[in-house]
Formats: sequence, structure tokens, C-alpha cells
Amino acid sequence: MNSFFSSVLPPPEDPVLSVYFASRDDPSPVKLNLSGGSYRTEEGKPLVLEVVRKAEQQLANDMSRNKEYLPLDGLADFNNLSAKLILGADSPALEEDRVVTIQCLSGTGSLRVGAEFLAKHHQERVIFVSNPTWGNHPLIFNLAGLSVEVYRYYDPKTRGLDFKGMLEDLSAAPSGAIVVLQACAHNPTGVDPTLDQWEQIRKLVRSKSLLPFFDNAYQGFASGSLDIDAKAVRMFVADGGECFIAQSFSKNMGLYGERIGALTIVCTSKDVARNVHSQVLLVVRPMYLSPPIHGASIVTTILKNSDMYKDWTIELKGMVSRIVSMRQQLYEALQARGTPGDWSNIIKQIGMFSFTGLNEKQIRFIAKEYHIYMTYDGRISMAGLSSKTVLIQLADAIHAAITQI
Ligand code: PLP
Repeated sequence: MNSFFSSVLPPPEDPVLSVYFASRDDPSPVKLNLSGGSYRTEEGKPLVLEVVRKAEQQLANDMSRNKEYLPLDGLADFNNLSAKLILGADSPALEEDRVVTIQCLSGTGSLRVGAEFLAKHHQERVIFVSNPTWGNHPLIFNLAGLSVEVYRYYDPKTRGLDFKGMLEDLSAAPSGAIVVLQACAHNPTGVDPTLDQWEQIRKLVRSKSLLPFFDNAYQGFASGSLDIDAKAVRMFVADGGECFIAQSFSKNMGLYGERIGALTIVCTSKDVARNVHSQVLLVVRPMYLSPPIHGASIVTTILKNSDMYKDWTIELKGMVSRIVSMRQQLYEALQARGTPGDWSNIIKQIGMFSFTGLNEKQIRFIAKEYHIYMTYDGRISMAGLSSKTVLIQLADAIHAAITQI
């Protein structure tokens, strides 16, 4: 039978998916996929936080709960508590009632709803993302009809921040342009500005009338402290200017599959916020009508209860310490092998990922000879490593790639 879709072409090769397929199809029992962005335990297993299990138990025992639709903007308590988590409970913007927060489908959904709103209601349609950035950013913003440009961010020579380049590019951006800033634990580089540098970025953004759009996917994952990791965002909110924040609970609560996050828009007045809120709802309504209830209920249960909140922060610190220890162990393993080059970036970089500086040829060699998979930009998920076997395996592989390729 003829198909209506026989002219549909296969998609162009996607570098991220091709790593995933190569790893999936590798029969080796020792294969290791470090390309993903999910936390793994020392045993290489996904982790459900104890506090999440407890919250789910509590929710399951509560017979008064039902499965009605949530309002278009989600669970009200979830929105209030999420806004406080990123802005701080004493935020003047919250006190002045000029903050709009709506529950969205995790970080990605929050970015998408924010982008759709901006494409409809913001005059300047250019959006700047860091070079490099999370691969989904350009896809999300292009699809919403924004025009994506990049600003310099990472310097491969120093394996650190190209701060001068970043400021130069932002200075040259047109007034009103949107600037995506990753709030902490930058993906994929693991390189964040210092607080002094953030202050200079803030001054520039405000003086050039740019609109900051924070992607806050890793709050708590940089320093282990939710408040410290919120400092850059709070700095921008404290000056009274506007900003967008896409917030995710995928990583810091391990709720990846629950698709739970929030879009916060900090406005300059209560009146502006009221109109922005109604217009955001008009973006949501034809897109998915109403967000899912379960993840929002888990997060709300934890954020509402001071004991559970404390337990969460302890478990979050536990995940971060394991990653920091992996960094140290990998660095020491390379030192012990006398691997040529300066590998201090592995311990200096922050968050879930390390940008190794390996080139594509070396990465392909490592996949072929050692069955270890990473994205072709040389990013490895530190959370996917364990001290038992994997560190040795990876250190051997990197050493071989550097000395032989
Ligand atoms: N933003 C960044 C920088 C990310 O790395 C990710 C996920 O890897 C996301 C947003 C979105 O994650 P999610 O949609 O699961 O919240």
C-alpha cells in the first residue's frame, strides 16, 4: 500500500544520538556510556532519593488526593515554593508580588514556554547562547521562532572561561536581545563565572538593556548548596530588573522522568506581572493544557516539610561529594600514569560534567579500544563514573589516547 509518508527522509545524523546508538549496540560487557546527563550511584545504577521515596509513600497514603486536572499554571504551592527556592524566601521581588511562576514540563518545557512567550511578546527576537551550550538550546529557541546567536564562553586553550570574549560579544549584542545564562554548573563545559565576573556580566546586561534568561537546571549541583548556587540569579533579581528563569528538578531531586520544573518571570511591577501571567497561560493552553500532578506533588511535599527539606539537602550534598571525589580520583589516576598535559581542569570544573579537551579522533579511539562512550566534544559525565573499576578503565583509555593518537 502507498504511504502518505514515503517521501519522509531519515533525519540528519545527530552527534548525541549516534553516541547513544554506538554504545547501545556495543556487545562488550565492560562498555561504559559517559555521554548522558543523569546521576549514577557507585554501582552505576540510577538513584531514587530516600526523601523522594518517603514523599511518594506519604502521597500514596493520603486518600484525600485525586487525579483531577491541575490549573493551567500547575500546583499553586509548588509554584510558590519553587520561586522561593531560586529567588530566596526574602526576595523583594516576591514581597512586591511582581513574580510569575508557572509549573512546566521540567527545564526543557520551561525554556520552551518562555521562548514561545518571548517570540510573541518581546520585540527583539535575537537570543544569545554560550558557545558551546547544551545541544537542545538552539533547537528549542529556533522552533519558537527566535533567532539564535552565540557569545564566546569557553577557551579551549585555558580550558576555562573566555571572559573577555564573552563581555565583548555581549557588548555587541543589540539592545533588547535575550541572553541565555546558565545559572551554575554550566553544561557542557563545567566552567562557571566567579561571583565578581557575574557582577560584571550583570552590569553589562543591564547597561545594554539585554534580557537575561537563566537556565537553572543544576541548582545545588555546583557547590552542594542550593543557596550558593542561586547567587548569580539573585544578584540579577536584586537590581530590580526583569529576568526569566527556567528551573528543573530533574537533577537536584533526581526526578528526571517526572518532568517537573517551573518557569519564573520576574517583572518590574505587579501590574506587568498580572498581564504576563495571563499571556503565559495562553501559551500553555494550546500546547498541553495542564501540567502533570505527580512530580509537582513530590517536590511540594519535600519543600513544605522542614525535616524532608533538610534530608533532601543532605542527599544532594552526597551526590555532589561523590562527583567531586570522582574528579579527584580521575585527576590522580592520570597524574599517576604520567599522562602528558595539564589535567587540572578536571578538578577545577564544576557540576556533573567535565570537558576533557580530548579531540574527536581520540574519542573514537577510546570508544573502539576501550568501549567508553562520550560526546564528540569531549564531555564526560563525572556522575557516570565509579571508583571501583571505571576510573582505572577511563584513566587507561585517556592515557592511551593522548600518547598514541
Ligand atoms: N538545561 C540544561 C543546561 C541541561 O543540561 C538540561 C538537561 O540535561 C536541561 C536544561 C533540561 O533538563 P530537564 O528538561 O530534564 O529539566
